[in-house]
Amino acid sequence: MANYRCMNCNYRFVPKSNRAPTRCPYCSTEGKLVTEKSADQIVREV
Ligand SMILES: [Zn+2]
Repeated sequence: MANYRCMNCNYRFVPKSNRAPTRCPYCSTEGKLVTEKSADQIVREV
């Protein structure tokens, strides 16, 4: 299952449902969620 990250507030979460989330559960911003494919990618982004 993919992890999601909010580009607005940087909140990371794993959706409980099978449907792709469109809104951040923390800041409720829509359209700012991206999937995190690997830990390596996260490290490089920092
Ligand atoms: Zn957010």
